[in-house]
Amino acid sequence: MKRLTEEEELFRRKYGHVDKRTVQYLNAVLRSIGVVGDVSDFAHVSHKPPLREEEVMYQYTRPTLAGYETIEIGQKNGKWVVQIAMASGDELVYIFFVFNRRPSMKDIKTALLVDRLYQAFWFGTLSPVFTCWECGRETHWLDTAGKTLEEKVEMLQEKYCGC
Ligand SMILES: [Zn+2]
Repeated sequence: MKRLTEEEELFRRKYGHVDKRTVQYLNAVLRSIGVVGDVSDFAHVSHKPPLREEEVMYQYTRPTLAGYETIEIGQKNGKWVVQIAMASGDELVYIFFVFNRRPSMKDIKTALLVDRLYQAFWFGTLSPVFTCWECGRETHWLDTAGKTLEEKVEMLQEKYCGC
């Protein structure tokens, strides 16, 4: 087995088996929407809501497959915090993101998508490289014809390179 260099070792400890291109791309997406932190640590989970009631400035409720979820946005220590309450068994947990500017709903959707995607790569439920069902070519998900993150994810899920 090939020995890892010190740099590779550190990368592995931080990002598991997620490949470098994927990590760099997802971090660039997060930076572009104003997320504070790196893809490996930007989504936090808490049993207590990180925002106090008086710190919540906006609240949205949207339907999900599991019922509904409430997205709350507010400010804390000069940063913008987005907290989403989710049912986990019998209890409520909060996933939260920190932004350095006020996020739009689109930014929040992007942050959630990046988080889900990163977890899927981390746990190996999604592989960044797939075989195109049409042409049979081995394709990295960042080499498809998809332009935006959403398009790239769609093509990854369809296993289609865009040929
Ligand atoms: Zn193809």
